[in-house]
Amino acid sequence: MKDFGIYIHIPFCRQKCFYCDFPSFAGKERMIGPYLEALEQEMGQVRQRLWDRGEAVFGSDGKLAPGTIYIGGGTPTVLETVALPDVFYLLQKHIDVEHAGEITIEANPGTVDGEKLRLLHGFGINRLSLGVQSFDDGCLKAIGRIHSGQEAAEAVAEAQDAGFANISVDLMYGLPGQDMNMLRESVETALSLGVQHISIYGLQLEEGTVFDKLHQQGKLVLPSDELTEEMYDYITAFLPERGYYRYEISNFALPGYESRHNLSYWQDVPYLGFGSGAHSYWGDCRYQNSARIEVYMEEVFQGRAMCHVEEKVTEKAHIEEFCFLALRTAAGISVRRFAAVFGRDVHELYGEQIRRLVEKGLLLEDRERLCLSPLGMKYGNQVFGEFLLEDEK
Ligand code: SF4
Repeated sequence: MKDFGIYIHIPFCRQKCFYCDFPSFAGKERMIGPYLEALEQEMGQVRQRLWDRGEAVFGSDGKLAPGTIYIGGGTPTVLETVALPDVFYLLQKHIDVEHAGEITIEANPGTVDGEKLRLLHGFGINRLSLGVQSFDDGCLKAIGRIHSGQEAAEAVAEAQDAGFANISVDLMYGLPGQDMNMLRESVETALSLGVQHISIYGLQLEEGTVFDKLHQQGKLVLPSDELTEEMYDYITAFLPERGYYRYEISNFALPGYESRHNLSYWQDVPYLGFGSGAHSYWGDCRYQNSARIEVYMEEVFQGRAMCHVEEKVTEKAHIEEFCFLALRTAAGISVRRFAAVFGRDVHELYGEQIRRLVEKGLLLEDRERLCLSPLGMKYGNQVFGEFLLEDEK
C-alpha cells in the first residue's frame, strides 16, 4: 500500500496573533458547523476519486489508510468539547484511523482544559503540538497570544495527566522585547515540563500581518541581528546538549519522538490536505484549496474537491524540492534514494556544487548521504540556492 499522510485544517482562532499569516480567522465561529459538513463532503469526494482511479491507499474496509494524520490550523482546539466529536465522526467515516501510527492535533494553551484534553486523547490522538511561543507574559502579550506562560505550563501538565506521552511545544525567538534571559527561561521551562519535542522558529515579518504594518510605520522594535544570532546559537547548542536531537533545521526531539508526519513532508511522501487553504501533493501534481472559508465551502458543496491543480510538478521542480526538503533534515539526501527516484546519480547533476559547498564547510558528504553541516544549517539558503537547476537540465 502507498505511504501517505493526511492533513486536516481547522481555520478558526480566537484572536489573530500579530505575526501570523496562516490561513486562520478570528470571529468566524458561526461557520464551524457548515465547515465541518464541507470537510466531510470533501473527504468523501476525494476518497471516491482515488477509489475510481484504483489507487492503493485503502484499508480492508475501503477507508483511506494514511500512515499519519495531522489536525492543524488555525486552532483546532477552539472547537468546543461538544463539537470535537463531530470531527472524529468525519475522520472515522472516511479514514482508517487505527492504521495511522501518529495522530497529532495542534492546540493553543488558551483553549484547552483537562476535560478537552482527555476527550482528544480518548479519540486516539497520540501527539499534542502546543503553540506556546514563550513562557514570558510580556513576550506573549507583545505578539498577541491569548494565554499566559502559566496557562501554557498548566496545559502541558494537564495533557500529561490526560495521558499524552508525546508532547511538542512551539517556541519563538527574536520577539519584540525578548532578551537572552527570557529566551533561556522559556527553553528551560519547556524542558523542565518534560516535553518530548520542541519546534523553535525565529520571528519572520510576513506581509499583511499586524507586525508588518507596525514595522512599516517604524513602530516595531525587534532584537538586534547580533542578539538574534546569539539566540539562534544558544538554542542550537543547548537543546542537543540536553538530549534533544536536531533532526530538522527548526525541530528538536528526544530520540524516537521526531514528528513522523512532518518528516514525511521533507522525505517526499505524498499527502492529502483537507480544509480551507490546505495543500495536497499527489502524483505529479500539487493542489491547493482556497484559503477563504466561504469559497472553499462553495467549491466542495458543488462537488469540486481536489480539482484545482496549483502546479504540475516537472522533473526539474521535483529534483530541486527533493533536495531542498531532504537537506532540511539531519538525514539529508540519501544518494541511493535519489538514484532510485530519479534514475541518476546526484553527483551527475550537482557534482560541482557539492564540491564547492563541502569546501566551504556548508555540506557534509559520505558514500551514503549529503547533509548540512552545523554551519550549513545556519546559512541554509546559501546551500539551497546551489540546488536550483538550469532549465535545460
Ligand atoms: S493561534 Fe496560531 S494560527 Fe491562530 S492566529 Fe495565532 S499563530 Fe496564527
